[in-house]
Amino acid sequence: MFSPKNIAQFAEIETPFYYYDLELLKKTLEACANEAKAYKYHVHYALKANFNENVLKTIQEFGFGADCVSGAEVEKAIECGFSPNKVVFAGVGKSDKEINKALDLDIFAFNVESVQELEVINELAKAKSKIAQVALRINPNVDAHTHANITTGLDENKFGINSWDLPLCASVLRNSENIKFLGIHFHIGSQITNLEVFKHLCIKVNEFSAWFEERGFTLKVLNVGGGLGIDYMNPNNQIPDFKEYFKIFAEFLNVGPHQEVHFELGRALVGQCASLISRVLYVKLGRKKNFIILDAGMTELMRPALYQAYHQVENLTRIDVEKTVKYDVVGPICESTDSFGKEILLAETQRGDLFAIRSTGAYGEVMASNYNLRPSIVHVYDNEVK
Ligand SMILES: *Cc1c(COP(=O)(O)O)cnc(C)c1O
Repeated sequence: MFSPKNIAQFAEIETPFYYYDLELLKKTLEACANEAKAYKYHVHYALKANFNENVLKTIQEFGFGADCVSGAEVEKAIECGFSPNKVVFAGVGKSDKEINKALDLDIFAFNVESVQELEVINELAKAKSKIAQVALRINPNVDAHTHANITTGLDENKFGINSWDLPLCASVLRNSENIKFLGIHFHIGSQITNLEVFKHLCIKVNEFSAWFEERGFTLKVLNVGGGLGIDYMNPNNQIPDFKEYFKIFAEFLNVGPHQEVHFELGRALVGQCASLISRVLYVKLGRKKNFIILDAGMTELMRPALYQAYHQVENLTRIDVEKTVKYDVVGPICESTDSFGKEILLAETQRGDLFAIRSTGAYGEVMASNYNLRPSIVHVYDNEVK
């Protein structure tokens, strides 16, 4: 991904910064859109993975819908060109203000996460003489086999409606005049790399779908959420295998002629398109450990501190240096979890070397903070440094 020319250009830019490869983003979007088209699948992009405006505008141009988890995300999506009738809105804690905003903007669907929320949306829609379109987010109790902190579809998670509450939901739906029931929604977790998990999800979706249809409801929408993982070990030009992913749903999901299948992909679309570029402030050689201290830390990229996430770390300056040393690569923040990796074998490193922390397009820049009163992180696009 990085040529010597890139590296010379980076030398002119103040670090740290996120570098976006919009060309790779476009290739990834094109691959996903093409594979989805083969099955007439609808794909919504999950804004929370990255709401950089250039990224959003690019995604929208490829015809994707938007999956939002806050009122501000709903507004942002529409501002950046996503059509309101392709916007879905999930979240366990939608405030009245956010619901009203989404009603005013005439979004496609609320993905409703509790019986109480269903009643509140019905009331707020009634006050506006509107009909709110909803899908029920069901917690299917399927293990995503991913990190516990990014698992969302087990009984112990706060997300979605538990199966034992569905009879109550069905009666509330029958009595809610300002709600149009579109279908059912699921999202069981993130960074799912074992595709078998999606097969288990399909089997559950089929059961819930049959349950509703047996009770006289028509489900137009089957929304299976997102969660497709990326290969953090191989960041170079990696486009996720969308073909294999969609094939599982084509094979295992029961879809009637009246039904649409919807997806909500975040990480898989944007994860590989950015790197965090940073400079070495100090190299601290010790008796037990050697530390490389970067000018980027958990304030720029929180995933390692938050869920022990792995990101490939590269020294861009010493590509031709043969001597290697094991280092712990850490940030400058006053927290022991502010580390990008331990005992990493790297070319012998000097103060001032440029580093890339790869695969940081998803849940990277969006989670940046100003802890330690750090300045806000900036970004640079491939077309600006060419
Ligand atoms: C975060 C989220 C997604 C996207 O998850 P990825 O793992 O990034 O694909 C999809 N749907 C909902 C409801 C989410 O909260």
